[in-house]
Amino acid sequence: MKTHSYAATSATTPLAPFSFERRTPGERDVRIEILYCGICHSDVHTVRNEWQGTTYPCVPGHEIVGRVLEVGTKVTTFKEGDIAGVGCLVDSCRTCGSCEEHLEQFCDEGAVFTYNSADKHSGGTTFGGYSESIVVDEAFVLRIPENLDLAGTAPLLCAGITTYSPMRHHQVTRGKKVGIVGLGGLGHMGVKLAKAFGAHVVVFTTSPDKVEDARRLGADEVVLSNDESAMNQHLNSFHFILDTVGAKHDINAYLVLLRRDGNLTQVGVAPEPLAVDVSNLIFGRRSFSGSLIGGLKETQEMLDFCGTHQITSDIELIPIQEVNDAYDRLVKGDVKYRFVIDMASLNQAL
Ligand code: NAP
Ligand code: ZN
Ligand code: ZN
Repeated sequence: MKTHSYAATSATTPLAPFSFERRTPGERDVRIEILYCGICHSDVHTVRNEWQGTTYPCVPGHEIVGRVLEVGTKVTTFKEGDIAGVGCLVDSCRTCGSCEEHLEQFCDEGAVFTYNSADKHSGGTTFGGYSESIVVDEAFVLRIPENLDLAGTAPLLCAGITTYSPMRHHQVTRGKKVGIVGLGGLGHMGVKLAKAFGAHVVVFTTSPDKVEDARRLGADEVVLSNDESAMNQHLNSFHFILDTVGAKHDINAYLVLLRRDGNLTQVGVAPEPLAVDVSNLIFGRRSFSGSLIGGLKETQEMLDFCGTHQITSDIELIPIQEVNDAYDRLVKGDVKYRFVIDMASLNQAL
């Protein structure tokens, strides 16, 4: 099926209109008309080949909400007309230990990501959500709570689960002191979710103009991370810190803020290594770890949690023709707090 999209054809050229073939739905496939797709900073890292390994053409997008157009004969959980979501994963082996534990993102055979992964169906590369439709096995399609705004829900499929999963894993609950580093797409979801878990939330930002917003989003305290005396007031006090910064920065400044046995989880992916002063881990038995999105079961649990607690992303809705400007603005930190593409714009302009 011929499918319109926006693609990057190299690391240095802007995204531009591109057409490719989607497979005809198999018996367990769901074909979804994409209504909204969020712009994650990972899209920018990948399109610009900042992590190496990008295959071009690259159609990014893994925060997808849409309407089911068609289902295969053996599909039981979706029917034509349903609202559905697709996040960062579209397939995995389903039989390894990680898949059996619903942690498909860590599949031993290699998870199939929504874009820039090997696609066994086409023999090429997977193409993501900056496109008019997508065909996905029903096991990797998510149900969207009926009460949520659809455009604001799209970013939950990556920014939501990437912040929800490590906070659940590290038992962020009522009474815990939790830090969120970086108030961007991930960070602002982290604040909303940590508040909903009942935590005392402290935002660390480099941007003075975000202080008021951080409070509006639910932060109990906001610290400008370049203010050394403000940072020192929080020494040895955090149960958990989530670091969403995807650029070089000093993580030791945050490790010393953890209390004994506290954990700092890194989700922002800096293209270069970050230096850890191990004495900050040894004294206080603190730990430093990472986390990658979340499995399908937990992503559904997160969506249902957001439905119950009326949580969506704060977004700026754009037509796809503005995607390259949006990338430049995202890199400058000029978005409150997630760009979402109104995919109706794709075909209007053709
Ligand atoms: P984003 O919207 O650009 O937010 C990042 C925030 O980090 C910025 O708003 C800014 O917040 C802060 N920041 C940026 N550059 C900085 C610097 N040089 N020094 C200090 N702070 C800086 O990006 P995002 O979409 O939330 O993604 C964040 C990172 O997570 C990216 O690297 C992305 O690839 C990665 N990611 C990882 C996963 C995973 O599974 N682990 C999933 C999705 C995304 P302030 O203005 O408040 O300082
Ligand atoms: Zn993402
Ligand atoms: Zn597997």
